[in-house]
Amino acid sequence: MNLTAAEAIVYILIFIYGIVLGSFLNVLIYRIPNKENFTTERSHCMKCGGKIKWYDLIPVLSYIILRGRCRYCKEKISVQYPIVEGLNGLLYVFIFLVNGLNIDSILISLVTSVFIVISVIDWRTYEIPFGLNIAIFVLAVIRVALKPDEWVSHLTGFVAVSGFMVLCLIIGRLIKGVDAFGGGDIKLMAAAGLFAGWKCVILAFLIGCVLGAIIHTIRMKVTDADRVLAFGPYLCAGLFISILFGNNIIDWYFGML
Ligand SMILES: [Zn+2]
Repeated sequence: MNLTAAEAIVYILIFIYGIVLGSFLNVLIYRIPNKENFTTERSHCMKCGGKIKWYDLIPVLSYIILRGRCRYCKEKISVQYPIVEGLNGLLYVFIFLVNGLNIDSILISLVTSVFIVISVIDWRTYEIPFGLNIAIFVLAVIRVALKPDEWVSHLTGFVAVSGFMVLCLIIGRLIKGVDAFGGGDIKLMAAAGLFAGWKCVILAFLIGCVLGAIIHTIRMKVTDADRVLAFGPYLCAGLFISILFGNNIIDWYFGML
């Protein structure tokens, strides 16, 4: 791959944009579950409440300069902040490299950011906030509006996996009296299905199940991770892979038959 200087600058800008947005994702991750206002209030230290100065808000870099501690009380700052920022920046660059410099890559980047927020919140609280699924739904509507000839595939995607999950939920309740899936997971796969289209959302669900089964089993063996599975992060990983590579994976698979 040969990048011209101009392209290299574009990718650096995409990375910077990604890490800056990543620090906003951290704000969402902490404030949505606590029902805090995430638009007007300034960021503050979780322990001493000290307002964070603008020059300490540089993504990734500030964490390194402050050596992971609050400027005032020296309380440790969660490593989650630079990880979310850095990950968001790297995934943005990756998305644009794979999918090209186009509007669809912007939409995929934004939906990926929502996946990151959902993954961390679901991991910690076992809940997927409704507003985040609405955000995916809105991005999906924009994406479908931009490719009007593919609306049937996307509308089918809305129910392809979510419908199956609802069915499992009903059967599970009738037979065993337990819920097979959480309502948040089902809404996620409905909104993300509208975004991805039916083929990719089915593939995403399969990838999510395989990843969840393997990783969660290992986690239960190695650590004493909960028996309760936060399914959101695995579904989001499956969705990310499938939205970027799904059509290639499906073509390759059926080409082998
Ligand atoms: Zn502090």
